[in-house]
Amino acid sequence: MANLAQRLYQPWQNLSIRVRGAVIIAIPVTGMFTALSAFAWLKASLAEDETWVQHTQTVRLETKYLVKALVDAETGVRGYGLTRQEEFLEPYRWAQSEIPSSLNRLEILVSDNSAQVERVQDIRQLADENLRIFQQKLTLKQEPQLIPAEPSTLVPAAALYAWLEEGKETMDAARNAIDRFMAVEEALLAERIQHRDRYQQGAWLALCLLGVIGTLAACFAIHLFHQLERELADREAHLKTTNQRLENACNQLQRFTANASHELRAPLAAVLSNAQVGLMALDDVDLEDPEPDLRSDDIRPRLENIVSLTKTMTTLVSELLFLARYEGLLAPDDLQTVDLTDLVAQLASDWQSEAQTHNLQLSSQLPATAVMVKADANLLRQAIANLLSNACRYTPAGGHIQLRLRQQEHQAVIEVQDDGIGIPKESLPMIFERFYRVDSKRTKASGGLGLGLAIVQQIVQAHRGQVDVTSILEEGSTFSIVLNSLD
Ligand code: ADP
Repeated sequence: MANLAQRLYQPWQNLSIRVRGAVIIAIPVTGMFTALSAFAWLKASLAEDETWVQHTQTVRLETKYLVKALVDAETGVRGYGLTRQEEFLEPYRWAQSEIPSSLNRLEILVSDNSAQVERVQDIRQLADENLRIFQQKLTLKQEPQLIPAEPSTLVPAAALYAWLEEGKETMDAARNAIDRFMAVEEALLAERIQHRDRYQQGAWLALCLLGVIGTLAACFAIHLFHQLERELADREAHLKTTNQRLENACNQLQRFTANASHELRAPLAAVLSNAQVGLMALDDVDLEDPEPDLRSDDIRPRLENIVSLTKTMTTLVSELLFLARYEGLLAPDDLQTVDLTDLVAQLASDWQSEAQTHNLQLSSQLPATAVMVKADANLLRQAIANLLSNACRYTPAGGHIQLRLRQQEHQAVIEVQDDGIGIPKESLPMIFERFYRVDSKRTKASGGLGLGLAIVQQIVQAHRGQVDVTSILEEGSTFSIVLNSLD
């Protein structure tokens, strides 16, 4: 069972967190929209049914009103016939005007049903016939030979009975026509009420069903959400552990590099000084004996090689120690307020002699005002010196080097530009990596170890700054350091 659940969940777990999150949100939203649409549709249908029921009720009321008008007219005429009192004619006169207008209203009300319209027209004919007969009876009543002028005078019973019975058939026919009309409306009303009730029941059922589905969907969404939350928490915990392990490994490596570099410095210094002493001893031997024997000629280049290699090793060890020491951001306490204009001017003057050694022209371009930054002045000096050293080493004699400082929108920009050998485009992305050198040919000539630019980048990043390079092969390179300035 647990296996089946796991297998069902597998495709779900294979989806990305983003997709799963979207699905979890979509479930209740879709449920809500479906419920709302269904509810709106049911409500509209119910409203339509209710309108039809109301309409049929109105038709029924109008029909009853018509029947009442006809009955009132007949009763009025009869009353007048029996009593000859004018007040009995009032309902008749009222009905005379009301019957046609009631029929008009009925015809409009049932205009959507042609069969009913025909029935209304039949009723109209019969009603007109009835009204005509009532009128005739009234005229007859006023004739002296049938009805005496005085109400007190007795009328022959047979004549009165005949008068009363006249038009009865037409009246019955009208009533029957109205009854038929009414029966159809009653049937329609029953049908519509039934339809409305069915819809009402359906609406409730659908609402209950939607409610249950909505609740189930919401529960499912909550379950998925909790599952996702748990998974995210697990991942976070896992990431934290991995991060911690990486951090420890990094710290260990950093400590190891620092210790190893530190431990290597002393033996290297000893090797260097011994080799130098050896060389000095050879010099003394050479002075005493102008014809040096073969052995001292053999030893000198070996000792010189040891001195050169030991110097390179010492530089490498110092640079590695430096990189291990200044990993990460500098603490605020290590930063002082430094005037970059001053610092760069100083460097430009310090590097004049080195540039001249390489037969290069070093010029500087500085702003007239001070450019203040928060920095470790020694480290910054080291970074700019590395760039100047590279410019001197990778620019052929007769070339130009420019050291520039400018300020732009709360930033200080230091640039070292040369018109030297340049860097190939494909090497630019790797240029700041540790031990990366463009090619062995140029490195051999310059004697670099491939750590200078890595140190520059580390120093600049420790100051929350940015270092960048643009270069064109055989045309020259420009390195820029961007730092946040204090104004
Ligand atoms: P290295 O000590 O070898 O100079 P860097 O890290 O300072 O190491 O430089 C890495 C590589 O970038 C060098 O091997 C060199 O080929 C190239 N490079 C650095 N600066 C320049 C420059 N100004 N002009 C041309 N090439 C440069």
